[in-house]
Amino acid sequence: MPDIIQLLPDNIANQIAAGEVIQRPASAVKELLENAVDAGADEIKLIINDAGKALIQVIDNGKGMSETDARMAFERHATSKIKNIEDLFKIKTMGFRGEALASIAAVGQVELKSKRTEDETGVFIEIENSQVIKQEPVAMQNGTSVVMKNLFFNVPARRNFLKSNAAELRHIVDEFIRVAMSFPEIFFSFTSNGQQVFHLEKGSMKQRIVQILGNNYGAKLVAVQEHTDYMNIYGFVGKPETAKKTRGDQYFFVNNRFIKSAYLNHAVMNAFNEMIAKDSFPMYALFIDLDPSQLDINVHPTKQEIKFEDEKIVYAFVQSAIKHALAQFSISPTLDFELDASIQSLDAVSKPFTDENKSSATSSSLYNTFTKKNQSHFIESKSELKHWKDFYEPSKKQPDDLRPIEDTDLTAIQGLHAINDQVPTTDNLFQLHRSFIVVQTNRGYYVVHQQNAHERILYEQFAQAVEGKSIATQQSLFPSTIELTTADAVLLNELLPDMNHLGYLLEPFGNNTFVIQGTPADVNQGNEKIAIEKMLEQYKHFSPDLKYSKREKLLRSLALQQSIKAGTSLTEQEMKVLIQELFNCSVPNTTANGKPTYLEFKKENLDKLFGR
Ligand code: ADP
Ligand code: MG
Repeated sequence: MPDIIQLLPDNIANQIAAGEVIQRPASAVKELLENAVDAGADEIKLIINDAGKALIQVIDNGKGMSETDARMAFERHATSKIKNIEDLFKIKTMGFRGEALASIAAVGQVELKSKRTEDETGVFIEIENSQVIKQEPVAMQNGTSVVMKNLFFNVPARRNFLKSNAAELRHIVDEFIRVAMSFPEIFFSFTSNGQQVFHLEKGSMKQRIVQILGNNYGAKLVAVQEHTDYMNIYGFVGKPETAKKTRGDQYFFVNNRFIKSAYLNHAVMNAFNEMIAKDSFPMYALFIDLDPSQLDINVHPTKQEIKFEDEKIVYAFVQSAIKHALAQFSISPTLDFELDASIQSLDAVSKPFTDENKSSATSSSLYNTFTKKNQSHFIESKSELKHWKDFYEPSKKQPDDLRPIEDTDLTAIQGLHAINDQVPTTDNLFQLHRSFIVVQTNRGYYVVHQQNAHERILYEQFAQAVEGKSIATQQSLFPSTIELTTADAVLLNELLPDMNHLGYLLEPFGNNTFVIQGTPADVNQGNEKIAIEKMLEQYKHFSPDLKYSKREKLLRSLALQQSIKAGTSLTEQEMKVLIQELFNCSVPNTTANGKPTYLEFKKENLDKLFGR
């Protein structure tokens, strides 16, 4: 038998490695924008065509590259930002792994132009399949322009995996906003298919936030600012009255890097406690600066999750800073500085950052794993973040597929069975706790969960409506408008055709505004704005889940959002209709997300329980 192991050719190895860094056009946009920021530019232009699938270009006026550096930049692990392992703990730049340009050159056709101030001419390089195919001098201004064309032209499987233009554009808008928001001292513009999406003049942090999130926030931002030796926090939170039904406008940055943290989000929500309704989300754009050695930015390759050396301090600090800010503007009903005092007395805060601290950081297990294995990919997140996420966002649990309830699901609950073979008569029913409907059957009784049941009914109605007959629309006498963030507007645009089928007549009105011309005939008028905001929020809830189509997510979101909630009292007639409609459904016993709609209690089991 011959030996069978071979080394992968470089270009294939590069393509595989690239998959981790460049998943979609937005990932390339993020990397290129960050490189421009790292190059010290104060003017950065982003140009895309076809949601970045055809073209992504970033032009900056930063420090540029020499001819040799320009070629080197595309090698894997080529970086000017770290030289040794200790540098990792002082990282102040956005990038440092030296993988972005190599990855981009592995999956797209690249043209780079770059010139330094000290050089007469610039350099032009063309690359395909990681190979330089052309290099020549070029006359140009100082700075760098990187063009990436035809993303995944050489990896058709990945190209096919990309989503609709509207969906990919939304990801790009998100990434653009995350970078533009942290650098208000840099001019940014963003052009998509020749149309200007953003034009952000240099200005203050507050001006930048208003430029991006809209004038609504203008006079309604509260400044947050706290400094300690250990860490600083600054930025803005929206006054409670600006809280929205959708989570869109929430941004955390650590050392200017956008991060996602359910843990820190919880700290903010806690600070707002009681000032806003339970189901609404305050706006915030918060920047935390702390010594890079107190962070593990390596945890995730796309660097959106980080681990703090001491999460508890950060949590307490964030929470008290926001409480303090709200109190100063006399928004907070109660002054609560207990936390401040407890933070100030913590060692890490009261003692300045010393060499001793530093040496304890280098002896940490993080440092050791890194030096031992000698590559960043081996560092695994020891973060408690996951834990917190589970705790505070239990509803993020991925919904199950459509499936009937199996007996085994419920046998754990003594005496219960749900068997989907008996349609109850509706002569004998009543409501319990304004949440459940108890209805007698020949064999015993059903306890129907009114919201879950209604969710199932609506889901099937909506599914029919998008397939065939549209739901009747009630024209608004006085059409109202709804203004969204750019990201939400892109999302809603994508959903418009299906929304129309479902009875929502919405017209784009420019500037992220939509006119609500009509709503479904059976939805109360007057609440349509909130209904749409909530629907978007629900939709985003399902968003990371690739399993579901756009339409399926929309149907589930709307059904959930429009269902009668627990706590609503129902007339006998309403209960009868609900039960009849439920048992007319093709799958009456669960919601689309797999929650039971009713449980059956058998008379014979009741008898047994009573010793009969
Ligand atoms: P990293 O940013 O992690 O160092 P990249 O692959 O993104 O890795 O870039 C490699 C190197 O190319 C950078 O370290 C930098 O020296 C150089 N470079 C990339 N983009 C630019 C730019 N826009 N202007 C100047 N230098 C750049
Ligand atoms: Mg980079």
